[in-house]
Formats: sequence, structure tokens, C-alpha cells
Amino acid sequence: MAGHLLANSMVVAPSIEEADTLIINTCGFIDAAKEESINTILEAAELKKSGSLTTLVVAGCLSERYADELRNEIPEVDHFFGTEAYESIIKALSPDLKYALLGERTLSTPSHYAYLKISEGCDRPCSFCAIPIMRGKHRSIDKARIISEAQSLVRQGVKEIVLVAQDLTYYGIDVNGERTLADLLTTLSDESGAEWIRCMYAYPSKFPMDILPVIRDRKNICTYIDMPLQHASTEVLKGMRRGITRRRTEELLDAIRSEVPNIALRSTFIVGYPNETEADFEELMEFVEQQRLDRIGVFTYSQEDNTYADILGDPISAELKQERLHRLMDLQKIISHEKNMAKVGSTVRVLIEENHNGEYQGRTEFDAPEVDNEIFVRTTKPLTIGSFVDAVVYDASEFDLFANVVE
Ligand code: SF4
Repeated sequence: MAGHLLANSMVVAPSIEEADTLIINTCGFIDAAKEESINTILEAAELKKSGSLTTLVVAGCLSERYADELRNEIPEVDHFFGTEAYESIIKALSPDLKYALLGERTLSTPSHYAYLKISEGCDRPCSFCAIPIMRGKHRSIDKARIISEAQSLVRQGVKEIVLVAQDLTYYGIDVNGERTLADLLTTLSDESGAEWIRCMYAYPSKFPMDILPVIRDRKNICTYIDMPLQHASTEVLKGMRRGITRRRTEELLDAIRSEVPNIALRSTFIVGYPNETEADFEELMEFVEQQRLDRIGVFTYSQEDNTYADILGDPISAELKQERLHRLMDLQKIISHEKNMAKVGSTVRVLIEENHNGEYQGRTEFDAPEVDNEIFVRTTKPLTIGSFVDAVVYDASEFDLFANVVE
């Protein structure tokens, strides 16, 4: 969207106060995201009322899903658009703008990393999820376009490309009936020029095992997978329509670890799904303790309109959900601390991301931006943001490492 607008002579204002047009790209995934989106729209509506804003545009998933309701409730908004409505947005902002003009991608992330979407939409039937309603059926993005976008990002200075999709593992199925993520990763590794390529959001059921040798053997593919498992109890997984059991999940994790022994595994879990009993939750705790995943994120269940699970209601109280979330994260803190302490004395390659008055902060290939651990490095020489250094870990906390740069 930003690439189209900038190519059409629009200019990004340095602050909201100096902008005459504001485009809010919303999320409508779960309650917390909807609340954040709505609060942002309401704040912008106040600016519109005060006259400091000429045009207010709302786009993205929330307005795809609730455009009518939002239009009635917040009349200050001039235009509501759904997902991928780039052409309509451009036309609405100025009839002179040309949709055909597309510039380089404009990054909203720091210049050394970028997210790269390889497909849109999802064909999975997860009972709790509204994404297929908002994003539609799965569509793979053309491989040549992905490669060219990756090369263009690298030309702009991007060192790390983070591959995203609703489900990375489905790549290719809509094109030729086959999962072709391994082929895409191989070509990206050969031709993109990126120093790091990272895989996020890999669905566990029917996981394409042929990506594992590619991850293991390619130096510029991070030894890392983010695989949202959502739960461990077979009963809850069945209720969630995830197409996998606890046993099959364990077999998959064993197979991944035996193929790529030092892989960092990240996962996310939902607590408080309507059929989750105390015993199911204890089983999840036991699974997390047994599996010792490198990173986990935990969400409380959010009942979403028109999903399969909607009719089950939301019988587990918010307090109990929060309690389960904290118990699981407290357990993971212990696991994460132990795993981090085991790294003391080792040498790691660090991508430098921030400079805090001479103390630098970065990440290793085992950590994704924004959601995973950080590493704080000490050095006697100035470092450049976006550069790589080798560093020896001398201490660790629950979620951070501390290291000295090898000079
Ligand atoms: S795979 Fe992910 S995006 Fe697709 S339905 Fe399941 S949770 Fe939603």
C-alpha cells in the first residue's frame, strides 16, 4: 500500500499532527487486536472532528469484517476498505493517482529486516479462527514475484527476510497441488542475497518434511521454525479441528529435531478454549515441560463471530484463562532460563539492531524480531546497526543473553 502511494507522489508525514490524510490499517483477529484497532480509530476520529485531519481512511481486517457496524458507529471515517483494496484506496485518495505505479516496498520495520508474505488466505478449518473469513481462501504468491521482492529488499539494505503467511506450509498447493516451500526456500537461499531467511507460521499437520534438509544445509536459512501448536491435549486439538493428535505432534517434533539437531523451535498456545478442562490444561503444562521448546507465546481464547467454535460460547472465565496463561509462561520462563544458561561460553553470530549509548542490542538466528529473545553485546569499538558480529555469551537471564564481541 505504501509503495503504491509513494510511487504516486504521496509523501509520508513525519507525525500524525502534520498529516492531512490518515490511513489506519487494522487487525480484527482477536478481542485484544480489535480493541486496539477501534481505540486507534476513535483517537483519529477526534483529530478529524478538531479539523486537524482532512481525510480518515480505515483499511484491513477489522473493516473487512465489520465495515457496516463501524460506518454506523464512527461517521468521522471517510472511507472503509477491506484487505488488499489497494486500487480503491488509491482512487479514493486522488483520482489522478495511478494504480499501475508501484515503487519499491516502503518498510515499516527497521531497515535491516523485513517481512515477506508468500501467500494470502487460509484453507484450514481451525475452529477458533476468523482469519479465513477475513482473508479468504489460500493463494500462493508467484515464486518469481517473491524472489524479485526479496532481491529488491536486499538492495534496500535488508539483511534478514522473515517469511510469513497464514500457513507457510501450504505454499504451492493451490498452484500445482504440491507443497513447494522447500523449492521456494532453496531458490531464495540461492538468489535473494539475504544473510538470514526465517520461516514463521508453519502449520504442524502434514508438515512438509523436505524443508528440513534445506534449513539444515543452507547457511543463510535460520535454524529456526515457528510452529503454532495451539494445544497438546488430543481432545482440545480435536475440538479446535487442528487435524493432529498429541502423539503425532510429539512424533513430528522428534523428527524435526533429529533432522536439524540444533533447531530453535517457537510455538504458540491458546488457553481457555471452551472444552479445555483442568486436566487438559495440566496435560499442556506437562507437554511444555517435556518438550522444552525454545520460545513460546500464550494467548487466552477469544470467542469470534461466525467461527466454528462460536456456538460453544466462552464458558471459561477471563480470570481462569489469565491464571492458566501465567502458569504456562512461568513454566516457560524456567525452561528458557535453563536453555539460555546452557549457552554461556558459546560464540554466537549477532545481528546488531539497537545502540543504547554504546551498549548494543541484537538477535541471533535463533530469535525472530519482536517476539523472541534479545542479546546485549559489549564492545570497545562502535558497531553499525544492521551489521553482524561474533560474540561470546558470558551471562543469561530468562529471555536475554549477554555477550562480549570477539574483537
Ligand atoms: S491455520 Fe492459522 S490462519 Fe488458518 S485457520 Fe488455522 S489458525 Fe487460522
